[in-house]
Amino acid sequence: MKEGKLIIFSAPSGSGKTTIVRYLLDQPELNLAFSVSATSRPQRGKEKDGVHYYFMSTSDFKRNIKEGNFLEWEEVYRDNFYGTLMSEVKRLWSEGKNVIFDIDVAGGLRIKKKYPDHTLAVFVKPPSVDELKIRLKKRSTESEDKINMRIAKASVEMATAPQFDKIIKNYELEEALREAHQLVADFVGVKEENLPTDED
Ligand code: 5GP
Repeated sequence: MKEGKLIIFSAPSGSGKTTIVRYLLDQPELNLAFSVSATSRPQRGKEKDGVHYYFMSTSDFKRNIKEGNFLEWEEVYRDNFYGTLMSEVKRLWSEGKNVIFDIDVAGGLRIKKKYPDHTLAVFVKPPSVDELKIRLKKRSTESEDKINMRIAKASVEMATAPQFDKIIKNYELEEALREAHQLVADFVGVKEENLPTDED
């Protein structure tokens, strides 16, 4: 099977990386497909199994670790496991797609290490940790405790930014989307004439 490209967007929770990844997935010329991760965290509101995540019990998750089925996995928050199943990446490669990931910083760097030549690793930088707190509160999908846990982790994650291939500052969304699009188009080798124009 031909191994395709891997494009990783990592960032602290609330940085806007999910918005960027969704936007890129809507650009057909990039030929991207989303790597659906496995997780042991509970399903939230409108999330669908097999679309947003493969939801599984902690014991199933641990069994998959034991069997060596993950390309990478992390206990991102205590008792909340997240991981990329190798079968998911192979499935998307077999469809001829470039695979895009929305994963945590440690997982992103782990994939980069395993596939250095195939991988573009991008860190999405929020304006500040205070701004992150505001965004997470606005999103109001988590309790105060969980938000504080994510904020504590964010400070540690910000320090890993220099290990990524590229850093995008998400201070102004339009600008971040434009920059992300250019980076990925260059990496997957989209020819200039195939890029969408303003008239499209
Ligand atoms: P959430 O619970 O908000 O969906 O995700 C929490 C964090 O887990 C986010 O930073 C997200 O990017 C990360 N994450 C999601 N899937 C994976 C994965 O497969 N591996 C790793 N290492 N992190 C993941």
